[in-house]
Amino acid sequence: MPVFKALSRKLLGLCALPLIVAAPVSAETVALSGATLIDGTGAAPVSDSVIVVTDGRITAVGPRASVSIPAGARTVNVSGKTIMPGIINAHAHVEGNRRSTAPLPQQLSDQLALYARYGVTTVYSLGDDGVESVKLARETRQKSQAGTLDRARLFVSGPVLNATDAANGRTNVTENAARGVDIIKVRLEGPANAPIRQPAVYGAMIDQAHKEGKRIAIHMFTADETKGVVDAGVDVLAHSIRDRDADPALIGAIKARNIPYIPTLTRDLSVFVYESKPDFAADPFFTKEAAYRPTLEMVSAPEFQARIKNDPSAQAIKPALEQAKRNLKALSDAGVLIAMGTDSGAGIGRWQGYFEHVEMAMMAQAGLTPMQVIVAATGNAAKAMQIDDQVGTLQPGKRGDLLVLAASPLTDITHTKTLEQVWIDGRRVN
Ligand SMILES: [Zn+2]
Repeated sequence: MPVFKALSRKLLGLCALPLIVAAPVSAETVALSGATLIDGTGAAPVSDSVIVVTDGRITAVGPRASVSIPAGARTVNVSGKTIMPGIINAHAHVEGNRRSTAPLPQQLSDQLALYARYGVTTVYSLGDDGVESVKLARETRQKSQAGTLDRARLFVSGPVLNATDAANGRTNVTENAARGVDIIKVRLEGPANAPIRQPAVYGAMIDQAHKEGKRIAIHMFTADETKGVVDAGVDVLAHSIRDRDADPALIGAIKARNIPYIPTLTRDLSVFVYESKPDFAADPFFTKEAAYRPTLEMVSAPEFQARIKNDPSAQAIKPALEQAKRNLKALSDAGVLIAMGTDSGAGIGRWQGYFEHVEMAMMAQAGLTPMQVIVAATGNAAKAMQIDDQVGTLQPGKRGDLLVLAASPLTDITHTKTLEQVWIDGRRVN
């Protein structure tokens, strides 16, 4: 199909990538053939597709008739399956577990493997990242280049920054940028008169982040907080607006400034869901994972459940979550860029890997179409975090991060749980 090839060339030109479609075949070329392919851009799926990955990058993709499989390529028959890009979590966490005796680097690395087992091939950690996480993030990208990455690739914000005043906020941003982080993270927290809640303080931190060449993601809760940080130039809204309907002026400002919005619905679910046994505790896609068992045992204890049931702040999140769903639908309808994120890994019972699938199902419950949800978890998540030159969509030039599913998530978003194969950089990982 000439149109498709022309499009591929156009994309390559736009991305200023070398024309690698004609690269010599190496031992690292693989072609997955016969699946229905969802490319993560929102374009209609391609049935009976072929996708070719050479040395970690996609070199050709399209209907079988338009793609010639290079001689010597290893062909994998995935007829009857669905391929989608690897899931990108735009707001996740990796952090040490106090109950684990394993060395911290091992724990963090194991968490990236856990994410990958659930099809999450890119993790953007927004906070609580120490030197080990910054180092690991760099290592995942070096391994990706070397063709040896066997778990999720990692990006980090370093610690969540606070400040005593504007000058201190600027210093904290500068020091964090020097640690080699990918983005700056700030959380509006504490009493109303807390310095970090004052526009002069967070405004200075946003300004300083931009001076350091970094973007800044902010944790907010209310519409007023959101308006404040949007007016001050925030780059990423890391949570939902949860106190009232976002008004048209606020939605318009978010849209006009092209600020991505990460709902993190499962973050709020996790606050109250352990008041009783959650439905997913019986889901085979959840129970198959041995790494979850110790924590599941903890949140299933009657004392734990009673504490959640009797905690007014936990109960107050129930209406906040419903409000978050309404605002997600309104912002999505208005054309705001929605990126999937979960806050997985920060706190108890925020399951790294599994909760991304729950999050996608909840986004669909909020009124998004399966295609909108898939794009939010792939192409748009990459755009939101400005890593779309590397990952997010299945287009020539991008990394060969993809999932093979038994059933199409376009007919039912929970079919993401029919995950059969995870590929990173064109290599299958287990
Ligand atoms: Zn978080």
